[in-house]
Amino acid sequence: MLETSSFVEKEYFKKLIGTEGMQIMENVPGGEITDEEIAKLSGAKLTAVRKVLYILYENRIAEYRTERDENSGWITYLWRFNRDNIKKIMEEEADGILKGVKSQLGEERKGMFYQCQCQRVLFEEAAAENFWCDECGSNFEYVDNEHQIKELEEKKEEIEKWMREIKKG
Ligand SMILES: [Zn+2]
Repeated sequence: MLETSSFVEKEYFKKLIGTEGMQIMENVPGGEITDEEIAKLSGAKLTAVRKVLYILYENRIAEYRTERDENSGWITYLWRFNRDNIKKIMEEEADGILKGVKSQLGEERKGMFYQCQCQRVLFEEAAAENFWCDECGSNFEYVDNEHQIKELEEKKEEIEKWMREIKKG
């Protein structure tokens, strides 16, 4: 299931399910499979397999349907993996992160920031409190946010690069 030549895709999986999860999913063939069969194939514990399946399910990469045995009433979960969804999901995730970073960057660029011992606030908030923080009992002092802006710009570039790589496949 993880037979992918794409480095970006592999990194995404590693981030999602960890190295142990990668080992569990490595030998899973296509088609439907039960959690017990996956455990047998990978030699992993059933609880570890279920944890990985749950993460993949939450991320819309794994799906299941249930089948009830009419005699015993026993319910079997049959899992299936949606490889085609991965690229789309990665793009959506990157897009969401990028939007957040862009809006943060916009705020940092237009705002003037002040800081006390416990928090960082906008000029307007600091002025409203007469530049005194009641929570920690210290002055709000002006802070240069060039560093924050630079960090966000770097993050934005990194995500944009990631998005280009996802598109390339
Ligand atoms: Zn404070």
